[in-house]
Amino acid sequence: MHEFDETTRALGDEVLRYTKERLALDPVPLDFPRTKAELDTVAAGAISAGGIGGLAAMRLFEEDLAPACLSIDHPRYLSFIPCAPTREAAMFDLIVGASSIYAGSWLEGAGAVYAENQALDWIASLVGLPASAGGVFVPGGTIGNLSALVAARATARARTGRRPYRVAATAGAHSSIQSACDVMDAELVPVDVEDWRLTGDNLRAVLEAEGTEDFFAVVATAGTTNFGIIDDLASVADVCEEYGLWLHIDGAYGGAGLAAPSVRSRYAGIERCDSFIVDPHKWLFAPFDCCALLYRDPNLARAAHTQHASYLDVLNDAEDWNPTDYSIGLTRRARGLPFWFSLVANGTAAYTAAIERTLEVTRYAETQVAQRPYVEAVRAADLTVLVFRRLGWEPADYYAWSDTLLESQQGFVVPTSHAGETLARFAIVNPKTSEADIDAILDSMA
Ligand SMILES: *Cc1c(COP(=O)(O)O)cnc(C)c1O
Repeated sequence: MHEFDETTRALGDEVLRYTKERLALDPVPLDFPRTKAELDTVAAGAISAGGIGGLAAMRLFEEDLAPACLSIDHPRYLSFIPCAPTREAAMFDLIVGASSIYAGSWLEGAGAVYAENQALDWIASLVGLPASAGGVFVPGGTIGNLSALVAARATARARTGRRPYRVAATAGAHSSIQSACDVMDAELVPVDVEDWRLTGDNLRAVLEAEGTEDFFAVVATAGTTNFGIIDDLASVADVCEEYGLWLHIDGAYGGAGLAAPSVRSRYAGIERCDSFIVDPHKWLFAPFDCCALLYRDPNLARAAHTQHASYLDVLNDAEDWNPTDYSIGLTRRARGLPFWFSLVANGTAAYTAAIERTLEVTRYAETQVAQRPYVEAVRAADLTVLVFRRLGWEPADYYAWSDTLLESQQGFVVPTSHAGETLARFAIVNPKTSEADIDAILDSMA
C-alpha cells in the first residue's frame, strides 16, 4: 500500500474529482445528522482484514457518511461560530496533507514554518504588536488560550518566585478560559461587566479587593462568542500595566474584525496585550483546525513551553525558530499553511472586503429585527453576532422552530440563552450569507 500504481492513480483522480465537485457546489447541501443505528446499517464493519479498496471507501464516505455531516459553510448555517473556508485555503489543505511536512521545527519544516510566520506577522501587524512578536498556529482557541496562560504563569513565577494561581476574567469570557484554569489548577476570579464589557474600573475593584499577589493574568475578550462583545481593552490594559499583570486577549472569533476598517476603532488598546489569539478557522476563512497564537515577547513563551529530551537536543541547541516551543504540543501539522496560501493568493484586501460584507449583512439583520414587530434585539451587535428574542415564544418554541429549519434544510440556527432566557442568535462569518437568507429565516419566525 505504499506503492504508487494504476490503482492509486485512479484513486487520486477520484479524490480530485470529489474535491473539485465539493468545492464547486453553490450552495452546498446543508445535510443532516443520522443516528448511530442508521449509520450502522450502511457502514458497520467497514474496517476488515482485506480492505475494500480506495474507490469503495470513497463511495462509502461520499454517499453515506458525508451527507451525515452538516456543511458548516452553508450560507444559512448561523449557529455557534461557523466557518467558510476560501476555495484556495480548502484546496491547499489537501496539499498540506500530501506533503508529509513536520512543522514543529525549523530544521524539518523550514519552508512551511517561514510561510506560517509570514501569516502570523500579518496578524501581528493587524493587532499592532511589535515586529519582535511571534507565535505559532495551534489547533484551536482552547489550546491557544491554555498555552498563553501557561506562559503567563511561568513568567509570573520566574519574576516573583511565588506560585500565583488566579486569573481575572468576566462571565462573558469563553468557556475555554475556565477549562484552562481547571487544567492548570488555577482559579478564575470573576469580574463584573459594565454595559456588558470588562472595564479597567471593574478590574481594578477586584484586584484591590483581592490583592494582586496571587494573580498571573487577566483575560479580556475581543468578540465574545455568545454576543460578539469587545471588552474595553484600553482601560483594561491601563490597569494591567499599573499592576504588572499579563494581559491575554482572546480574539478567537472577533480578532478577524481587526482587518475591517468599519469596526477597527472598537479594538483600541489591543496592541498592548502580552498574548493574543484569533482562530482563522472562524472568521478568517481557513479550514479547521487553525488558531493563531501570538506573544509580544516570544522568549517568555519559549521558556515555558520548550520540551527537553535528549533526542531533541539537536533542535533545542540550534538558534532556529521552532514553532513547537510556543505552545502545548510537540508534533504539529503545518496548519497555518492553508491560511497563508489563501492570503498570498487572494491578497489581504479581499479579506477586508469579505469581513466587511459579513458586517454589512449583520447590520441588515439588525435593521430587519428592529423593523419586524415580532422580534427584538437583546443588544446592539458590536460585530457579526446578533442575539434577539421572538416575542411570545417559550423555550420549546425556539427549539421546535430550529428543528424544523434543519429538517426542511432551510437553515441551521440553534437557540442560545442569556440570563436564563432562551433566545435566537445569528453568527454571520460567511460572506455568502445574504440579505435574502436573513429575510427567509426571519420570515420563518413570524
Ligand atoms: C471559539 C472560541 C474559543 C475556543 O476556540 P476553539 O477553536 O473552539 O477551541 C475561545 N474563545 C472564544 C472567544 C471563542 O469564540
